[in-house]
Amino acid sequence: MTEPAIDPAQLAAWDKSCFWHPFTQMQVYCQEDNLIFARGEGNYLFDVHGKAYLDAISSLWCNVHGHNHPRLNAALTDQLAKVAHSTTLGASNPPAILLAKRLVEIAPKGLEKVFYSEDGAEAVEIAVKMAFHYWRNVGRPEKQHFLTLDNAYHGDTVGAVSVGGMDLFHGVYQGLLFHAARLPSPYGLAREMFGPLDWDQPAAATAWLTQLEEALMARGHEIAALVLESGIQGAAGLLPFPAGILRGARELCDQYDVLLILDEVATGFGRTGRMFACEHEQVTPDLMCLGKGLSGGYLPLAATLASNRVYEAFLGAFGDTRQFYHGHTFTGNPLACAVALENLGIFEDDQVLAGLPEKIQYLQERLMPLWDHPHVGALRQKGLMIGIEIVADKTAGAAYPYGDRVEYAISRAAVEAGVYTRPLGDTLVLMPPLSISLAEIERMMEVILRAIDHVTS
Ligand SMILES: *Cc1c(COP(=O)(O)O)cnc(C)c1O
Repeated sequence: MTEPAIDPAQLAAWDKSCFWHPFTQMQVYCQEDNLIFARGEGNYLFDVHGKAYLDAISSLWCNVHGHNHPRLNAALTDQLAKVAHSTTLGASNPPAILLAKRLVEIAPKGLEKVFYSEDGAEAVEIAVKMAFHYWRNVGRPEKQHFLTLDNAYHGDTVGAVSVGGMDLFHGVYQGLLFHAARLPSPYGLAREMFGPLDWDQPAAATAWLTQLEEALMARGHEIAALVLESGIQGAAGLLPFPAGILRGARELCDQYDVLLILDEVATGFGRTGRMFACEHEQVTPDLMCLGKGLSGGYLPLAATLASNRVYEAFLGAFGDTRQFYHGHTFTGNPLACAVALENLGIFEDDQVLAGLPEKIQYLQERLMPLWDHPHVGALRQKGLMIGIEIVADKTAGAAYPYGDRVEYAISRAAVEAGVYTRPLGDTLVLMPPLSISLAEIERMMEVILRAIDHVTS
């Protein structure tokens, strides 16, 4: 590997002078030394100085089989030699066709159509528009409202923010959004009832489902869809649902004739131990949103999977104007689809899902000692998705003040020690690639524990 010809100090200067980064307070960023990643290999990223970092957040939850993967690279260059892009508006391309066929084969039974886009937020935005349009096409235009959750995160475009529930990110845009009715966060409610250790109780699921049923009873006739992250709220700090929520929500949506949209953008592609998280409760949504891991974390690619019931409502003669008026320039991009198809091939050939229980179990064991830590308030795990809640005072359950950035300092200490992570509010996040080894898990946990000790002591 040749190092970049440009001096790292020069790159850092231009980074600060020209590049406005996402979710970043640039005034602070510009005063700090920041990571500039120049390459990746397996589960590691390398910065411009050549230092290696274990990618403990899968490059924002999207990398699946590691970086610079020979098979994914080959799939990409093979397609590149054919064509980089052609439109799918009224036309098609082989990788997009083959990927759609494969996705339908592996998706929960009943999802039979694939609508492509580029990012998770778009996949959600499309699901929301499809649900809204579906009810118009079947002659029930009064069903035009959405039901969502406190703490929900579905991406940052205006429609996706409208069905979100994170006031810190979303509050400022209130005047720009359409209104969605909100239910409590299932984890929030469960924890209120049973505390941080024993929250996963059937009674907590029942209590939440009762609230859902009350909302559907009162307003089901005007609700187009219930929008849920699939079993764990990611961006709010890795907040898992008590068992039974997804199954119960599916049954209630059927009973009150409301569509169920499941956002599997973070949970899809093995992250929770199954290919899709809704499989844990044998649930098929009407619309399912995929992104992040779909292309193995290589290229921006997302998809909204739909049931035949939804799809068929859009059929008609051209002049009926029932078609879904939505599309992007790069919808169904062949490079991205070719890599995604190979991503699924790796799952199959390497039996990736079969190898996950051992890793998940080992992670759980390595997390155990943290429960006794005076500055760890709660630990949350769903498969390879882990949230470690940092508290100033364990008995009071009190967080550090927002501006103190203690969690950020802990992540920073882990980065110094060669483990790349990034916190969410008061929660440290670990979400390694599926390809992480047991030895790497062990090292990751050692580094994190030491970083917590170092910063909080
Ligand atoms: C990341 C995420 C999104 C948004 O995906 P982008 O590709 O960042 O637009 C949507 N939903 C969930 C659950 C996510 O974690």
